[in-house]
Amino acid sequence: MKNALSAMGRRTAPPPISWLMQAALSRPQIISLAAGFTDSATLPVKISRQVLNRVLRSSKTGQPALQYGITAGETNLRQLTARHLQTLDQSPSSLSSSLQRKSRTSTKDEDDKIHSWERTMITGGSQQLLYMTVEALGDEGDIVLVEDPTYFVFLSILQSRGLRARGVRLERDGLDLGHLETVLQRLKKSGGLRRTKALYLISYFHNPTGVTTSFEKKRGVLKLLKKFEGAAGHPIYLIEDAAYRELRFKGPDIRSALMVPGAAERVIYTGTYSKPYAPGARVGFGILPKLLFTAVQRIKGNHDFGTANLLQQLLAGELKTGLYDRHVAKIRTRYGRKAQGMKQALARHFPSNVEIWESGGGLYFWTRLPKNISTGVKSKVFRTALKNDVLYVPGELCYADDPSRPKPDHEMRISFGSASEADIREGIKRLGKVLRKYCP
Ligand code: PMP
Repeated sequence: MKNALSAMGRRTAPPPISWLMQAALSRPQIISLAAGFTDSATLPVKISRQVLNRVLRSSKTGQPALQYGITAGETNLRQLTARHLQTLDQSPSSLSSSLQRKSRTSTKDEDDKIHSWERTMITGGSQQLLYMTVEALGDEGDIVLVEDPTYFVFLSILQSRGLRARGVRLERDGLDLGHLETVLQRLKKSGGLRRTKALYLISYFHNPTGVTTSFEKKRGVLKLLKKFEGAAGHPIYLIEDAAYRELRFKGPDIRSALMVPGAAERVIYTGTYSKPYAPGARVGFGILPKLLFTAVQRIKGNHDFGTANLLQQLLAGELKTGLYDRHVAKIRTRYGRKAQGMKQALARHFPSNVEIWESGGGLYFWTRLPKNISTGVKSKVFRTALKNDVLYVPGELCYADDPSRPKPDHEMRISFGSASEADIREGIKRLGKVLRKYCP
């Protein structure tokens, strides 16, 4: 008898993350530099209790917090989130005054504002928003451009929903604009442009490479997408995933793509409170162009008709009282210190022919071995590392199945997020020992 699964049920491949987590769980002594988990020691237990106590102290605030809410999110949190993003985007450096005015002034039409709270949605992590955005934009066979490499769970969404991914080369300061133009030209020629719906860009402290895209490059990306829209016959959206934006420990913040003139119509900005606050609360958010906001809101109506209210109240309370900002300042210092510790350990233990990409934020170092040395799940390097109780994310998992190029297989993502400082030193020492054996 045939099974009763849908095409999607049959098609969806097991997520690579499950396999990695299982490998970690099966060996409790393992040091995992693979997980994108945040630092447990600094999770905000005390201030969460403080705010939740306040919310639940009286039935006036407690009852609504324990009730169903609004599909797009609680008005209060949507407004606080929009204001928070506006503040981030108004770093005084190089903001033109007309942009500042547009962003700040309360125009009659809230929708017109760059950081409109009415186009701000609260979701179950930014993962849910990414998923719903793909649902709203993509049919089976459609194409989404991604950075090469990119966040592997996003690739899993595309795989599961039957979409195709095309990789665009990544440079140390963001997307290779020349290559983006080449890819778009090629798609135009092959007829693929008509199926191309979006470009997915992780613009701050990229997962897995740590790269941050400059504002100029974001402007360049939007200009190119716009240039090809005529031939596509529809808008090509930019999904700007800013999941790691607030985990910045070096350098100034960079304006989001929303600040490029005209971008409000084309940019889907996704962010999260998971990384800077608590993944266990799992509250994400986004600002969407009006058309997409409406479509995604309807889809969310079917997913869960609203993110957990209690958790939204928690985040709203943290933001309102300034506890959130203080917490973020604290963890930035902490991640900066952990990154520094990892950098020193890498310099000490890794062979000199391994290229190391350092970042000013986020959770990751990206390391590139000589091209002939495989780091994939079946490679000697990976298996020996596992035997020596240390785990990393093989770079190959982060590359789309793009027929126009071979998949690189000589890189590793290593995270300083969840491991303790001592485990980071020990983990890198173990990994260094493995690498010395295979890349002399
Ligand atoms: N985007 C990126 C780039 C991520 O790395 C992650 C989590 N690892 C997410 C989105 C989703 O995070 P969350 O659902 O917790 O907001």
